[in-house]
Amino acid sequence: MQSVANTSTQTGLERRLAREKQARKQAEALLTEKSVALYEALQQSQAAEKKLQLSLWASQESFWEWHANNDEYVMRSFTLESQDEKAWQGSPIQLLAHIHPDDIGNLEFHWMLAVHGDQDKLEVSFRFKAGRQYLWMRLRGRVMERNEEGMALHIVGTNKDITRERKAEQSFHLMASAFASSREPMLVLTRQLKITECNQAFLSMVGIITKQQCLGTNLEKFLAESAFIREHIDSQFQLKFETFLRVDAGEQIPVEISVSLFDAQNQTGAYIIATLQDISERKHNEEKLRQQAMHDELTGLKNRAGLHDTLPQITSDYECFSLIFIDLDGFKNINDTAGHEAGDTALKMVTGAMNHNFADFGEVFRWGGDEFVVMVPEISHTDLVDPCNKLISDIEANKLTIDNTELSLSASIGIAEYPIHGNSIENLLQNADAAMYQAKLAGKGQVYCYQPGLLESMQARISMLAELKRAISSHGLEFYVQGKYDISGKLTGAELLCRWRSPLHGTVSPDVFIPLAEENGLDSQIGYQALEAACDYLSMMEVEARPVPMAVNISGKQLLSPGFADRAMALCREARIDPAMLEIEITESIFLQDEARAQDALEDLKAHGFTLVLDDFGTGFSALSYLRNFSFEIVKLDRSLLHNIHRDEKSLSLFNGVVAMLKSLDLFIVAEGVELAEYLPLLRQSQVDQLQGFFFDKPLPYDQFLAKHSGHYLMTGSGRF
Ligand code: C2E
Ligand code: CA
Ligand code: CA
Repeated sequence: MQSVANTSTQTGLERRLAREKQARKQAEALLTEKSVALYEALQQSQAAEKKLQLSLWASQESFWEWHANNDEYVMRSFTLESQDEKAWQGSPIQLLAHIHPDDIGNLEFHWMLAVHGDQDKLEVSFRFKAGRQYLWMRLRGRVMERNEEGMALHIVGTNKDITRERKAEQSFHLMASAFASSREPMLVLTRQLKITECNQAFLSMVGIITKQQCLGTNLEKFLAESAFIREHIDSQFQLKFETFLRVDAGEQIPVEISVSLFDAQNQTGAYIIATLQDISERKHNEEKLRQQAMHDELTGLKNRAGLHDTLPQITSDYECFSLIFIDLDGFKNINDTAGHEAGDTALKMVTGAMNHNFADFGEVFRWGGDEFVVMVPEISHTDLVDPCNKLISDIEANKLTIDNTELSLSASIGIAEYPIHGNSIENLLQNADAAMYQAKLAGKGQVYCYQPGLLESMQARISMLAELKRAISSHGLEFYVQGKYDISGKLTGAELLCRWRSPLHGTVSPDVFIPLAEENGLDSQIGYQALEAACDYLSMMEVEARPVPMAVNISGKQLLSPGFADRAMALCREARIDPAMLEIEITESIFLQDEARAQDALEDLKAHGFTLVLDDFGTGFSALSYLRNFSFEIVKLDRSLLHNIHRDEKSLSLFNGVVAMLKSLDLFIVAEGVELAEYLPLLRQSQVDQLQGFFFDKPLPYDQFLAKHSGHYLMTGSGRF
């Protein structure tokens, strides 16, 4: 029974065991199943979390949450590289310690609204101290749970560093306000130059009241050069040029425009910014300066630059015009003796006379110094000679009285006509100048019209002058000697005559180079060299034979120069020559310049013991008053008086008359130009004291002259030449 009982008990146990086994199995299976599910769920949630982290990282946001129960704020941020998250944990009070003091109030306000108010969404920006610097953060959040009183229990959200955006925003605002408030007119344009934005300064510049009238219009409406911008902006990106802007009033104002193309790679987004600058004032000032630079302050006339500015227009407007070149005579004298103020007055006076004579049909320019140019369109040079002569007499008539002294001026004038006298402006000016120079040479106070070849001959003169200067300074001039004889043919004197053999120009006549030297202030050097030579020759004659007086030609200007007599005296003293042996030959031109000064100078020479000779008598004015007022001892008749006396009664009568008149003044008379033997009987009958001319000898180098006369001296044995 027991066994039965046992058996039955066993069976019950077994069944229970089996049931339990079964149940455990089922539980295990369930557990496994659940674990798998749980595992999978975990996996999924990890993946979701990773995804969340990724998306947060990608949007540069970090995650945060706050729980009311522990009042703790937890922030987590993620990086892609590391699985780890960076976390920060602390109370909101701790958090506030990192916030910029200026932003705390705002942050607290929004936080309170979320926690205590009914605002579920939270968004606030503030500066957050990270290390030494503040970063701009944007905090966003949402209340997840509230208690019955409505107080937030759990808030989650994200944080983002928006420093870069903030800066960009700030600079954008800055730029926008700079654009709007800039005093420089500015425009934003499409690539087709449609105006999409403009500032107040631009509106004021073009005279438009509202922005709407301007937006959408094309720049072409205001700017003629729009096509130029469109063509070049793609290749150059930046353009800057001066142009004119059409403004609402219909006028044009000068502007400088700078145009820049932005974002040119992205064709759709490209835009152009144009900045304009009203340059009216600058242009006005530039024009004023230009005008000033073109005008002469003293006379108000256009100056040389003004002439060069005007002439191209003239050549294109007129087929023919004339240029008058005017150079004042005697201006330097006024400036030197009466001062610059008097010089200025003289220039103004002359300007008045020129304007009076030419302003109606031409324009007067001041070329510089005392030189002027008049440009006369459509009038030939021949028709200008009379008006020019009229100008000269007007200038001469307008005497200037300074310190009770009357100062007189005149003008030398040259005329050249376009195009017959020169087909370029430079050429024409040069030729008018050459003609003026010719007028000076011809004796000043004259008008001279350009003639072909004039400039060339002047250029030759210029090269000759340079060579003459060299010859003088290297003592390359020679002094020949020509004898003077008494009626019996005895040598009673000699004249020193200058000779110049130029390597370039051959033998140049003193009639050419002496005037050239006088015009250029070289005459006094020649004069002193002549005096030295005369002293030399005289002292050599002392050795070889008994000397005869030696005549030296001295220019009027040199004779009038201060200290001349003293210097001539010093030369005589040095050579131990008696000044009475030196005859100073001068022409009456000396009196034309300044009679009183001439008288003083001559008296001075006389007082030193020099002998004075009036040369070339019978040419020019031959005013007899000179003979009466000045103490000449010798008068030399010009050879033109002797000419033809053997063939022509009248010439002979004139000659004899002049000689008789001079003799009545008790003067010693020399006849020069005695070429022919036929003259001699006639001269013998007249009362001429001394003869000079080719009949006796030509001017000779001194050694030949000396050789000739030493022989004569020896042959005649007269004890004299
Ligand atoms: P001038 O003072 O009247 O000199 C006399 C000129 O007559 C000289 O010419 C002489 O050679 C020339 N002559 C002499 N006899 C006759 C003649 O029978 N027939 C002709 N037809 N002429 C004769 P030259 O030497 O050519 O000098 C010309 C002028 O140059 C001089 O005229 C004088 O005014 C000037 N001159 C010459 N040497 C000097 C000088 O050293 N200083 C200055 N200041 N002038 C000088
Ligand atoms: Ca002479
Ligand atoms: Ca003479």
